[in-house]
Amino acid sequence: MAWVVLLALISAPVLGSDQPTITFLTPAQAKIAIVDESVEPYFSLLQTQEMACKTAAAMPAGTLDSQRAVCRQRYADAVGSYSAAEQQAIRTILATVIPQLTAHYPLFAAEPWQFIKLDARFEGGMPFTRGHCIVMSDAISMSLVATAQLPAGHNQADLLVHEQTHVLQRLHPAIFARLYTAVLGFIHMPQEPARTADLIAHQMLNPDGISCVWAYPLTVNGHHVIIEPQVIVGSDAIVPRMPDDFEIIALPLDAQDGAYHERLGTDGKAVMVALENIGPYVSAFAPCDENFHPNEICAVLFAQLVLNDVAGLPVSQDSPAMQLVRGWAATDLSHVPALPPAASVP
Ligand SMILES: [Zn+2]
Repeated sequence: MAWVVLLALISAPVLGSDQPTITFLTPAQAKIAIVDESVEPYFSLLQTQEMACKTAAAMPAGTLDSQRAVCRQRYADAVGSYSAAEQQAIRTILATVIPQLTAHYPLFAAEPWQFIKLDARFEGGMPFTRGHCIVMSDAISMSLVATAQLPAGHNQADLLVHEQTHVLQRLHPAIFARLYTAVLGFIHMPQEPARTADLIAHQMLNPDGISCVWAYPLTVNGHHVIIEPQVIVGSDAIVPRMPDDFEIIALPLDAQDGAYHERLGTDGKAVMVALENIGPYVSAFAPCDENFHPNEICAVLFAQLVLNDVAGLPVSQDSPAMQLVRGWAATDLSHVPALPPAASVP
């Protein structure tokens, strides 16, 4: 088929009625949605330094609660709107993957795609998700305009599938927990290990991986060890650079009476090593280069396998980790769980 014809078909704006809806929030809607914590907390968990980092501006003096209120207001004030060209570009790109997702992963077909525009100074200009929505900056949406007409595999559809995977992770945590534990081998800790003051001060909460209850068992030089992958701010700057000042680490953990504790050094600070130096961990999830949270590992590998399938690549090209995700997705994303029963009205 001639490319010009194929591109015209891909660009067709009409999706069938069984396809998920695509919505671009207005600034008035986005102001509310960006700070909504009803699905999952975020702003109520942030620390002073990371709020400065995420909003690219120092926080005013005050209590943590007052700074969190300022932070919420900054996000609400920073929303924008998608131009007609940006909306069309996103619809065009999604049309290249939605049929594949709908055919094989009904959980994806059931969830609307909703987009919020946010100032590029926030969150380092990186795409992320909040509640039911994908949040992107002008820089990202303009890059999507530039690639929208390229063939699948080159049009950045993986970015959108990656972010929508984060939305589904938030809405269906049990489905994804089975992938992380039974399939990928993570330990689901009963709760997050107590953090040292130093780690709390340098916290860098991932909006797409809020729950840090995932540890990974390894054997290194004959020794059984348990590590927790984490991202922290590796700087004491008032306004750290994002993501340049990120530090991706592994925290060795000790298990005792069913709970997990950070291992402390003689200085009382948590022991940490660069995650990239933990060879068996890195190779377990290759080629994923965002291995600091199972939500990211899942999103990277799932988006990659969807793109491979759209491009018609043989599954023999899957890495071992992709094979694991593919096997899980074929079963666990193949149905939409029933909604919990409605609360009874007294
Ligand atoms: Zn992500």
